[in-house]
Amino acid sequence: MNLASFAETSATFPWFFPLGAFLLGACVGSFLNVVIYRVPKDESIVTPGSHCGCGQPITFSDNIPILSWLALRGRARCCGRTFSVRYPFVELLTGLLFVACWLRFSPGGAFNPGIAAAGWLFLSCLIAATFIDLDHLIIPDVFTLGLGVVGVLVSFAVPALHGQYEGLFIVDSFRSGVASVMGLLVGSGLVLWIALLAEVILKKEAMGFGDVKFVGAIGAFCGWQGAVFSIFGGALVGTVWFAVAWTWEKISGKSSPVAPPAETPEGVPTALGFGAHVPFGPMLAIAAALYFLFLRSWVGAWFADLAVLF
Ligand SMILES: [Zn+2]
Repeated sequence: MNLASFAETSATFPWFFPLGAFLLGACVGSFLNVVIYRVPKDESIVTPGSHCGCGQPITFSDNIPILSWLALRGRARCCGRTFSVRYPFVELLTGLLFVACWLRFSPGGAFNPGIAAAGWLFLSCLIAATFIDLDHLIIPDVFTLGLGVVGVLVSFAVPALHGQYEGLFIVDSFRSGVASVMGLLVGSGLVLWIALLAEVILKKEAMGFGDVKFVGAIGAFCGWQGAVFSIFGGALVGTVWFAVAWTWEKISGKSSPVAPPAETPEGVPTALGFGAHVPFGPMLAIAAALYFLFLRSWVGAWFADLAVLF
């Protein structure tokens, strides 16, 4: 299908592609639930197929994103055990982000479907990394190192990802790839320095090496501006996050649903407050997604203004 027929279909049936994007996103979200559950345990994401905690396989009709969970009211048909509301939430979130990405970068939007597809891949990995980090306080290498390598390759293939789409493809491709590698190096380098300084000042590990690699991957997709924004935007998101979690704890007397698990894998208790070991990955991911979808030009203009000052 060429760009003209894309645009034509978009104009005649404005809901067609966004609806398709949502359905695709919901299905990808369903797959991400499997990834989030199995990858940290080093289990295959392909076999065995979806099965309940009791061992019964889940039938195709009971495995439809969002709808099956609602129809069964979050209970397994086989044994009645409850499935977390997180499953449909991840499916809904992925669907909505896919629509946002499509509307933003499709022919009706600003650039081209290549960025939309690259964005789907990037956002999917951010979602997987976020929930794995919340559960295990670790981001597997495939979503940090692996995502960084993929980001550089995608940048060569889709130069528009780094704003290069006006000249000869091979020139655009080279510039985009360089911007991606720059983003990877600047992002990971900056977090490494922050982590080293924080360790000297606080005399304990403040950021994990996983965060260093994760910001590198964000930079590979978003360029150095996006990586820098994600670090400071992530800190801001974290501040809001804790304000909400702290207020929730004070009012309800219960641990908040966004709080980390009571025990880290190493067995260190993590009450909220100073000394808590909290995952920074989800905050980085939220800031990166906001940058990728909505804030790129605004942040770019801000950095350009700043550059004039020096
Ligand atoms: Zn069951």
